[in-house]
Amino acid sequence: MTIFVQSALFALAAACANVIGGLIVTRHKWAHRSLRYFIALGAGFMLGTVFLEMVPESFRLSTSAPVLILLGYLIVHTFEHVFASHLHFGEETHHEELTNPSVSVSALVGMLVHTFFDGVAIGAGFMISESFGFLVFLAVFLHKIPDGFTISSIVVSSGYSPARALAAATSLGLSTLVGVIVVHLVGDGVNYALPISTGSTLYVAATDLMPEANREKGVRMAFLVFAGMGLFFLVRLVTQG
Ligand SMILES: [Zn+2]
Ligand SMILES: [Zn+2]
Repeated sequence: MTIFVQSALFALAAACANVIGGLIVTRHKWAHRSLRYFIALGAGFMLGTVFLEMVPESFRLSTSAPVLILLGYLIVHTFEHVFASHLHFGEETHHEELTNPSVSVSALVGMLVHTFFDGVAIGAGFMISESFGFLVFLAVFLHKIPDGFTISSIVVSSGYSPARALAAATSLGLSTLVGVIVVHLVGDGVNYALPISTGSTLYVAATDLMPEANREKGVRMAFLVFAGMGLFFLVRLVTQG
């Protein structure tokens, strides 16, 4: 199996998680509750992957890694929190802020940029090695249901139909697949693509997910963040020996 097919299949699994996230918005309350656990677990796993795998690998690939990591961080910041007037992870509860349809459009554009780099990270990861790619895939996969849920929740709160909400979540999945394809098309560009997607992954973990985990009272969420890091160490031990 070629590296491209392999990373495309893993990205497809991640894209399906976006769609699942979109599906649970209009469904059971238990799904909404368990979503928070995914956010905390995903944040821990992503931070472990970013700091212990992606950052060192980025420095190995490029002497410009520090600038490129910062660039990736700022790209997602610009689209998710400068350009988009209202976007935060988890269930959308501020209906009064969503009366203008442009709010959900700008949130969707922001999330399309973020999920494009989810795909870039997976594609670049597998171009480096199978075990590295698998760790990056898991880091992305664990927060994909929250990704899909977040955008669908905004779309529904803006007064659109559940079908529109599902379409928005599906478009995030497609954007992830485009990210994988683009990183394979640019080939040697992986030396830039990995550091940039390292910055974007850091942004999603530290700025999108962590505040949601911290919003929760009690120690359970804090524990789950550490559990996510523990899971990262376990997977790394199993896949890299
Ligand atoms: Zn809100
Ligand atoms: Zn994402």
